[in-house]
Amino acid sequence: MIMDNYKLLLNGEWRDSERKLTVTNPADGEPFAEVATVDRAGVKQAISDAAAAFDSWKGTTAQSRGNYLRSIATELQSRADLMARLISLENGKPLAQAKGEVAMSIDHLLWFAEEGRRAYGRVVPPQAEGKRHLVIRQPVGVVGAIAPWNFPLVLAIRKIAPALAAGCTVILKPASATPLSACELARCIDAAGLPGGVFQLVVGSASEIGAEMLENPICRKISFTGSTEVGRSLIRGAADTCTELSLELGGNAPVIVFDDADLDQAVEGILITKFRNNGQSCIAANRIYIQDGIYDRLVAVLSEKINGLKVGDGLGDEVDIGPLIDERALSTALGFIDEAVAAGARVMAGGSRFGDKGNFLAPTLLTDVPEHVRCHQQEIFAPIAAIYRFESEEQVLKTANDTEFGLAAYAFTTDLNRAFRVAETLEAGTVGINDPVPPTSNCPFGGFKQSGWGRELGSEGIDAYLETKHISIAGIT
Ligand code: NAP
Repeated sequence: MIMDNYKLLLNGEWRDSERKLTVTNPADGEPFAEVATVDRAGVKQAISDAAAAFDSWKGTTAQSRGNYLRSIATELQSRADLMARLISLENGKPLAQAKGEVAMSIDHLLWFAEEGRRAYGRVVPPQAEGKRHLVIRQPVGVVGAIAPWNFPLVLAIRKIAPALAAGCTVILKPASATPLSACELARCIDAAGLPGGVFQLVVGSASEIGAEMLENPICRKISFTGSTEVGRSLIRGAADTCTELSLELGGNAPVIVFDDADLDQAVEGILITKFRNNGQSCIAANRIYIQDGIYDRLVAVLSEKINGLKVGDGLGDEVDIGPLIDERALSTALGFIDEAVAAGARVMAGGSRFGDKGNFLAPTLLTDVPEHVRCHQQEIFAPIAAIYRFESEEQVLKTANDTEFGLAAYAFTTDLNRAFRVAETLEAGTVGINDPVPPTSNCPFGGFKQSGWGRELGSEGIDAYLETKHISIAGIT
């Protein structure tokens, strides 16, 4: 089989290696590409090259850095179809959704191209005569960016764009399942003419790369998106060096549909927030609570719609649901279903593997799910909609907040008073009211509780890459 070959962008050069990472298509289990890797010494070298590049990059103007980001966006736009195809091939998501991911990535680049110019400091009135106080904001330094496989392009861009805009230099480590979109992004960045060492790409053992980023004092910051489990291990590792961390971790999003909701809007919203990205989204609906009065009608319409979803290779025509990322994800999902069914849940759609090739799960609807099972307690990360019935607003809000996670939450209602009450009570960094896709470049995104530290996007998104310095000048006459 002929495999596509990808190199790494290190200190302005495209480097190959003997040891390769093989990339597999989750739709058919076939390997189709190889990527060069680095060992720990290679990561160490990348960090010192990034530090050397930082010396001049930090002195460029925000305007000039913004121009680079706009050029990267232009390069990405010119390869949008190729990039979407790569995302779909390595991750499995339907092509239309991959195109949406590319479009959102371009929008993030353009947003941070402007935000760099708004990294304001301030002048503070003095407490003592003859003093002047300035507060300035400076780039943190060398940043290690670690991205997951579920949105391999856009979640890397949420780190790279603000870091570059702030004047930091960045080393990106993509997930091993999905390094190709990162390689293609590196080609865009190289074509945009960024100076060597300002952006570098490393692929290899996650634990070695993570350890070097944590233990090397030149790497000042790690921005991580991934599981809460790995996030906790980074926190433990950062204890020795006090390396600054931004963490975007797991979720367990509740969706609450009240009796007064618009039924069609709620059904459409559940389909999007549950099944987008094959159910593998950190803000996916995990626990769907439906109020008594609308329950039967909504479940009937929802099961008809779910039974009609088209499953297949993400590159196929009008596919709604692609494969899960790997066999382990498929067997975990089947385990969630088996456990729920054994505990009394009813399968209204799907419930089993789809086909005999690739990692496909038939989109599943479970009702009468008891709350003690794992799919209620843990992140499902698969196209399984688990439905729970509730009676009162007070009761459902208590249950919705009864989780260690707090990334996203949703409610469907036409009562404006209830909308505000519920939005303000839900413990989550993002709340969608009648809105299944709330994230946008210009608003902050991040988690409460064990869903993370800090915020990406919005005007807050650049804060993670800036240090605040107070300059006090005395003796001014
Ligand atoms: P993961 O296993 O935690 O991996 C995420 C990234 O961390 C990958 O690049 C992985 O590399 C790397 N990694 C693994 N072990 C590491 C270590 N010891 N040190 C440093 N890096 C390490 O998560 P995932 O399975 O890819 O992603 C799914 C999880 O991410 C879900 O929990 C989801 O909710 C969460 N997520 C959160 C957000 C958010 O914004 N809050 C967004 C998307 C996803 P390898 O691939 O090489 O192992």
